[in-house]
Amino acid sequence: MTYKIPENFEVLYSKEQIHEMVLQIAKKIDDAYPEGEEIVCVGVLKGAWIFHSDLVRALSRDVQIDFMRAASYGHGTESSGVVRILKDIETDIRGKHVLLVEEIVDSGRTLSFIKERLRASEAKSVRIAALLDKKERREVPCDPEFVGAVVPNHFVVGYGLDWGEKYRTLESIYMVKDEVLR
Ligand code: 5GP
Ligand code: MG
Repeated sequence: MTYKIPENFEVLYSKEQIHEMVLQIAKKIDDAYPEGEEIVCVGVLKGAWIFHSDLVRALSRDVQIDFMRAASYGHGTESSGVVRILKDIETDIRGKHVLLVEEIVDSGRTLSFIKERLRASEAKSVRIAALLDKKERREVPCDPEFVGAVVPNHFVVGYGLDWGEKYRTLESIYMVKDEVLR
């Protein structure tokens, strides 16, 4: 099921392509962690909730799940750079592997901030899985280890990603053509 989308949206990744990417990321994660080690998959709300739920179910092992919600001040399609935590994890992560799950990395500010915070909680490791990586936009160092695709600097929506809280429930990922951002 899908609803009518604006004409200036262009499919960047179809539902099927996303599914393929999720399986590939899951495989890399399965291979990266030794058997029997505890992993806590922390989804970064809200955008990552769909990717997170698909990813954890594609893994061939049981994991714990938790969520964080971070926001940067400001509205629109550019983030402001100041990160604040609106919801923290509830799991005791001491001695456990933490896998941060993000749908897209842009400036890297959100994840580098969260990663530092979790490191301070004495996690055994903190690694990052990101469906999409806007590598060229990076402002602070942030290296997601498990990545679906590196994408150019375009604003995208769907599969959890919003535009002013709309379009999160679209099953494909769409590029919003530049003209509408002005
Ligand atoms: P960063 O802190 O890396 O600059 O920002 C990461 C967050 O900004 C992402 O998790 C996502 O919520 C939001 N974001 C970055 N690029 C896009 C985009 O193209 N579309 C949408 N909808 N959100 C984006
Ligand atoms: Mg996000």
